[in-house]
Amino acid sequence: MSIEVVNITKSYKNFTALSDVSLQIPEGELVALLGPSGSGKTTLLRLIAGLEQPEQGSILFNGEDNTDRDVRERRVGFVFQHYALFRHMNIFDNIAFGLTVRSRKTRPSKQEIHERVHSLLKLVQLEGLAHRYPSQLSGGQRQRVALARALAVEPKFLLLDEPFGALDTKVRQELRRWLRHLHGKLGLTILFVTHDQEEAMELADQVVVMNEGKVEQVGSPEEIYNRPANPFVYSFLGRVNLFHGRLRDGKVQLGETEYETQWGQKTGEYPTIGYMRPHDVEISLVPHVGQSVKAQIRRISLLGPIVRLDLKRLDTEEMFEAELTRQRFLELQLEENKVVYATLHNVSF
Ligand code: ADP
Ligand code: MG
Repeated sequence: MSIEVVNITKSYKNFTALSDVSLQIPEGELVALLGPSGSGKTTLLRLIAGLEQPEQGSILFNGEDNTDRDVRERRVGFVFQHYALFRHMNIFDNIAFGLTVRSRKTRPSKQEIHERVHSLLKLVQLEGLAHRYPSQLSGGQRQRVALARALAVEPKFLLLDEPFGALDTKVRQELRRWLRHLHGKLGLTILFVTHDQEEAMELADQVVVMNEGKVEQVGSPEEIYNRPANPFVYSFLGRVNLFHGRLRDGKVQLGETEYETQWGQKTGEYPTIGYMRPHDVEISLVPHVGQSVKAQIRRISLLGPIVRLDLKRLDTEEMFEAELTRQRFLELQLEENKVVYATLHNVSF
């Protein structure tokens, strides 16, 4: 089912948590809501689920206005942040919960519930654990039970609020792969919240970048990384170097190189900041005439296949980072305190 959020505004007392947010989620897509803590992600999910009401705007499912519809009638599956399983219920009863609490009229028979729970246990690869209690499962297994419970009511879409937030890296990575697989298998529309850019990039068809109650950009992982709409999106999506410069009629001089502005004004003169990814710094032992800045290596971090250098510009004393492959690092025989030349590619002012 498609979800459409139209000009939603939501305040708590006099604090605006969401301001004029609009969003379209096509049927069957896996969409990530990405933003720092406090940017309004959970609020938006709660509004879509029907747990909160907006002051303004509307929420449509398949084009039909659902803004005033009760949460129980929305057929939404959700796994909320810190939403624990029922500790006193075994896994079977946890998964069956949403079905057993239904009114007699809509409740499936015992036999149907039994079959559905067992097929969900199979889907989340926890067959044979129906009689265990949550305390007898690992964190990753519990998260899969929470997903099975959300799926039990045959939701029209799934809302997941930082579903893997509390788990360690390895388990998170496994669950991400598993969620991707599940999405492919079920073809369900999924809106999934994270503050982890890597998770959003790896999983999502579309990423919605949020900040301070507003949508900053919507696009594929490729688009938001390579064509960020503004400096916030740029710096939120990965490690970034900042360079201070002066913009004069749309151009900035950095070291010996002139750059054209992308986000700044095209006329006048004022101080500005340039943004650049560490992997776009090219390190060499001889200067590229007219293009390089001279810098000293202050620190070397070996990070598996890549190496990160903390560098200090000799002209302005500004610090910046470079990332290069391990192989290139070995070729250049780099060491701390060595002076090198850095060519800065793809700086965005
Ligand atoms: P996120 O999930 O992106 O971290 P939230 O949607 O939880 O952000 O919160 C957005 C903002 O709204 C935060 O500043 C938060 O403090 C505020 N907020 C959320 N819920 C409430 C509430 N029930 N009462 C008052 N303020 C709230
Ligand atoms: Mg949240």
